[in-house]
Amino acid sequence: MPAQPLSFQNVPMLSYLTTAKYLNGSHCLKRLWYEEKHPEKTPSISLSQQRIFDQRKAVKPLAYSQFPEGVLIDAEDPDVAVRQTKTAMRRGESCLFNAAFRSNGAFVQCDILQKDEKGWHIIEIRVAKRIKKEYLLNLALRMYILDTSDIPVSATQLMLLNEACVYPDFSNLFVFEDVTDKVNLLKQGVPDSLQTFKTTRHRDIEPNVLIGKNLCNRPYRCPFKTSCWAFVPKNSVFTIPKIKDPEATALAEKGIFHLSDLPADFSLTPSQSTYVNSVLENRPAINRAAIREELANLQYPIHFLDFEADRPAIPRFKGFKVYEEFPFQYSCHVLQADGVVTHHEYLHTDITDPRLPLLQSLLAHISDRGSIVVYNLSFERRILRGLAESFPEYTSALQSIIERLWDQLTVLRKHYEHPDFCGSKSLKTVLPVLVPWLSYEALDIQEGGDAPAVWNMMLSTTNETEKQKWNQRLRAYCKLDTLAMVEIHKVLQEKSTYPA
Ligand code: SF4
Repeated sequence: MPAQPLSFQNVPMLSYLTTAKYLNGSHCLKRLWYEEKHPEKTPSISLSQQRIFDQRKAVKPLAYSQFPEGVLIDAEDPDVAVRQTKTAMRRGESCLFNAAFRSNGAFVQCDILQKDEKGWHIIEIRVAKRIKKEYLLNLALRMYILDTSDIPVSATQLMLLNEACVYPDFSNLFVFEDVTDKVNLLKQGVPDSLQTFKTTRHRDIEPNVLIGKNLCNRPYRCPFKTSCWAFVPKNSVFTIPKIKDPEATALAEKGIFHLSDLPADFSLTPSQSTYVNSVLENRPAINRAAIREELANLQYPIHFLDFEADRPAIPRFKGFKVYEEFPFQYSCHVLQADGVVTHHEYLHTDITDPRLPLLQSLLAHISDRGSIVVYNLSFERRILRGLAESFPEYTSALQSIIERLWDQLTVLRKHYEHPDFCGSKSLKTVLPVLVPWLSYEALDIQEGGDAPAVWNMMLSTTNETEKQKWNQRLRAYCKLDTLAMVEIHKVLQEKSTYPA
């Protein structure tokens, strides 16, 4: 297989509208404008985003291997890539990887372009199990650019990951979805979009786009949110817990962002009211009796447990499917009735299946009595159930752990509000408010999504110093998660004993 070219993200091609920019413009014109006029405001790529790019890079050669006749267009420079493509087509090649075209100010590359008797098939590889609208939009742009370059397109397909594929048999790793009809429909809107995007990219004043809960956070947080939302107060109509997007947007459309401007007849659930009142009165709202009642259900020794898990696109252990989740690390602090705290942990450090050694370590350190405190019960329960399914001989021990789970997040959600939580109950938000001396700030891993990325970096590096560095960072991060729960537990105990 020839060497892989750089990904789109790495290719300098500001003068062309790329498929990535087309997609961003289709999502939000202001985002497209920011990318063009204020690229310096783009935050650096997070570890978890990098992992997504790396997975795409790893999947491409597997997809290409299904087209042995394929010829790779490997130029990084867009103009050279276009010339290489023309030459390969003139030479009579019937299958091209990364074929490049430009027209109407746009530049596109097709993952796979395969000739048939009617023209050319565009096949786009996606590291996903299902069709998403963004894939179709990008295909519509590609189809339009090929049309206007006088390249007849006979069909458009998505090459997706197959849910039925089970390691180690990769013969059915991909499924092909013909999306020609849907893409044909979307293609009709491409000329107008290109014109709009061209105007937007050249204007000096930012387009007037109203911010939105979904618009700016889905499918992922917009990289320009910090700049774009600078005028929004830290507690706003958007941070009201569980507020629906249309409700928040309707308020924003009326220019209502501050909680103090909420209309008197605006309907709030009891927990939303607690939050709003806590902010307006600038004081915590703590239901001490309810917390006391919840804490009374805990039994010593109290275990504070957290897993880190990975779900790689390409399965790597026997019997695994695409994107199947497995744990590779846990941290567990154990609090005894006399106040003594001990710490136990497991981090898998090689490329073998981590589940059994992790499970055996876990069972050696979790007592058969006492509560298991977690932060977001559904995740830990899912991991434990998955382990029980894979290792039925441990079902009864795992079932006992599942039955003793106690969710600290739920208690905070229901009974503890603070203006500085800003509507969030994530551990990273709650910890510095409740336990100011303890924080994630000094850590390189900032969120759970980064941990699998770092774990894979640790496994893949051959540099021992690097390996050690990632190892220590993973241990520090997971340990802090459970230490945070121990300290929050102490705060809850203390607050619950205050008079109401
Ligand atoms: S934060 Fe929202 S409105 Fe602002 S550029 Fe991003 S998507 Fe558009």
